[in-house]
Amino acid sequence: MKKMRVLIAGAGHGGLIAAGRLALFGHDVTVLEKKPKDQLGHDWEDRFSFPLLSELVGKTLADFPAGSYRVRGDCAFVSPLGGKTIEVRYPADRAQFVMWRKPLLQMLLQYAEACGAKLQYGTAVRKPILDKRRVIGIQTSDGECRPADLVVDAAGAFSPLRRNLPADLGIERDCRRGDVFYAYRAYYNRTSNAQSDLPFEVYLCRKGEAGLSWYCENPDSADILIGRIDPLCEQKIREETDAFRALHPDCGQQILHGGCRGRIPVRRPLTKMIADGYAAVGDSAFMTTPMNGMGIDLSLQAGNLLADTVENCRAPVNAETLWQYNRMFHVLYGADTAKNECLKNTLLSLPGSAVEFLFTSGVIQSADLDGAGQNTDLAALLQKAFAGLQKPGWFGAVLAGVLRGAQVRALYKAAPESYDPEAIRVWSRKIEQLDIRL
Ligand SMILES: Cc1cc2nc3c(=O)[nH]c(=O)nc-3n(C[C@H](O)[C@H](O)[C@H](O)COP(=O)(O)OP(=O)(O)OC[C@H]3O[C@@H](n4cnc5c(N)ncnc54)[C@H](O)[C@@H]3O)c2cc1C
Repeated sequence: MKKMRVLIAGAGHGGLIAAGRLALFGHDVTVLEKKPKDQLGHDWEDRFSFPLLSELVGKTLADFPAGSYRVRGDCAFVSPLGGKTIEVRYPADRAQFVMWRKPLLQMLLQYAEACGAKLQYGTAVRKPILDKRRVIGIQTSDGECRPADLVVDAAGAFSPLRRNLPADLGIERDCRRGDVFYAYRAYYNRTSNAQSDLPFEVYLCRKGEAGLSWYCENPDSADILIGRIDPLCEQKIREETDAFRALHPDCGQQILHGGCRGRIPVRRPLTKMIADGYAAVGDSAFMTTPMNGMGIDLSLQAGNLLADTVENCRAPVNAETLWQYNRMFHVLYGADTAKNECLKNTLLSLPGSAVEFLFTSGVIQSADLDGAGQNTDLAALLQKAFAGLQKPGWFGAVLAGVLRGAQVRALYKAAPESYDPEAIRVWSRKIEQLDIRL
């Protein structure tokens, strides 16, 4: 295929993998990143698939920087009113590896550069440049217009590229309440090095508030995350960190890492994420698992899938050819994350007392929370149904959410096979009409 000029907005996980792979295929790739190089990435650890990263960047675990990763311990899920704790113990083959974000991004940067991609830091993208309905470049905040045959939007959930696309391209531009999770994260000092049997405590809808928090006891720090569906004010952050200190008196006041806020998309992916000359990857297309906000694996997969699609198409990169990337993402990953959004919104729309009941009655079990997604044992399902029927209203709401999840999953799997704007519009509308929003 003819060598293309590719501009990638954002040097995150999705952007860097796409950059490396496209450069490897012989394209002229430039990544435009608004931050300076030394400020790239957050000062906290992330969980993601180490085998996936290893495979994509061609490294083994022995190549990961020493001290940059560790295994996070077993987990205790705590019910909203504190009446029940469900333990999740991970076997060795599903140990929860976490890695500091900065070295993770350094590995991806080295990969992209080694493949031949160029990185330009301190350059914020402002909006796409269009010729009729085709994206033909990017305008940066210094006013410069940069032409491109393909623009990859990897600038996160609030990407100015996506938000400035013309509405008639049929790509959703804005977020609604419930689409984004507002998080605060900090690692505090500890005054002891005692270690709990279940060091990672996760609180769902604590005190009935729509969100998720955690307290993770590391040998050298206490990692606190506070996340809510609505923006967090300073007072809420103080109240919640103090509540954790009351439970864990050895948690100090000194911030060792983080101490800042972030926003995570927690909704189904865009139904349509491509146009002539444009494709979105990662958070900019809302590619996370809504229940836990994990988006690194999906961003990496999307960047890789996009590059393969471009490489395999013998035609110019237009909406027709890019649709195969869009559709394949949904078939492989988007359908499941859309279903996961239903579950998340169902739980968040219930009162705290109802979620408490789901924990205490046994409707929610350890196998539902361990991430393996395999709690389909008939005896367990019957036990859940029997327990749930004690509160038919709440149980009915959960069942309705599960059913809508199955419907939305089936719809994503059935994305139109070829690019037909009218068929895509009708299909997207059907998904919208399922009304799975919060
Ligand atoms: C507190 C917190 C904890 C998380 N924990 C996990 C976890 O444990 N595991 C996990 O899988 N996911 C986690 N996530 C989610 C994860 O961070 C994202 O899903 C993932 O980073 C998405 O990758 P991306 O490449 O799409 O975007 P990002 O990694 O966000 O990269 C976007 C890049 O675009 C740049 N950018 C933004 N605007 C512009 C602009 N105008 N011009 C140029 N550049 C721009 C940004 O500076 C950034 O470098 C967490 C998120 C938060 C906030």
